[in-house]
Amino acid sequence: MTNISKKIKNVEQTIIQAAQRAGRNADQIQLLAVSKTKPVALIKEAYLAGLRHFGENYVQESIEKIQQIKLDTDFEQAVFWYFIGPLQSNKTRPVAENFDWVQSVERLKIAQRLNDQRPDHLPKLNVCLQVNISGEQSKSGTTLLQVIELASQVNNLPRLTLRGIMAIPEKTDDQLRLEKQFNELHNIYLHLQQLYPQVDTLSMGMSGDLEKAIACGSTMVRIGTDIFGSRG
Ligand SMILES: *Cc1c(COP(=O)(O)O)cnc(C)c1O
Repeated sequence: MTNISKKIKNVEQTIIQAAQRAGRNADQIQLLAVSKTKPVALIKEAYLAGLRHFGENYVQESIEKIQQIKLDTDFEQAVFWYFIGPLQSNKTRPVAENFDWVQSVERLKIAQRLNDQRPDHLPKLNVCLQVNISGEQSKSGTTLLQVIELASQVNNLPRLTLRGIMAIPEKTDDQLRLEKQFNELHNIYLHLQQLYPQVDTLSMGMSGDLEKAIACGSTMVRIGTDIFGSRG
């Protein structure tokens, strides 16, 4: 077993145990491997250990890796790419052309551009709205007040499929505060699901807080450090 496959086993075990404690089925929780800043060789190790879903944050870096992997015959099965980083409007085209998901949509203009630039020969682009749950000025994301309106606008765009919400909670040691933010996100998710039946994704939980996120209803955890090591 490689170092990375051991780490993946550990993460998968953590997900299973957290799901059991919450009375949930671990099959309802997707593991997204966050490979930003990491080379194709490490992504390949994770792929060979069974992972198929990868998250990236930086446009140029990710497009280079995606193109390289497309030509690499060791990747026999399809890999699904998730853009999870801040996205400027002048960089939407390569994202619309190369990714399967964008989880960091925080304003209508970005959604419209992704919709207009999504090639016709590809399936619709899956989208999550990023919610700024802590309300911190420095954080990306739409506000709690705006998320329902943005959802209705995004849901009208024909080349996008609204799948749910994504959030990065505040960095805090206050466990109750963190739990409150996760619970608020879960409530928004349930509300959106009532409005839009195709909504099935609550993307929350990272290396430091995946167990609590799962306890609070996460359907997708985004794990970088615990799989690929720290990012220097
Ligand atoms: C980097 C990143 C992650 C992974 O964080 P880790 O703490 O390394 O697991 C998850 N989500 C987003 C949006 C990120 O930018």
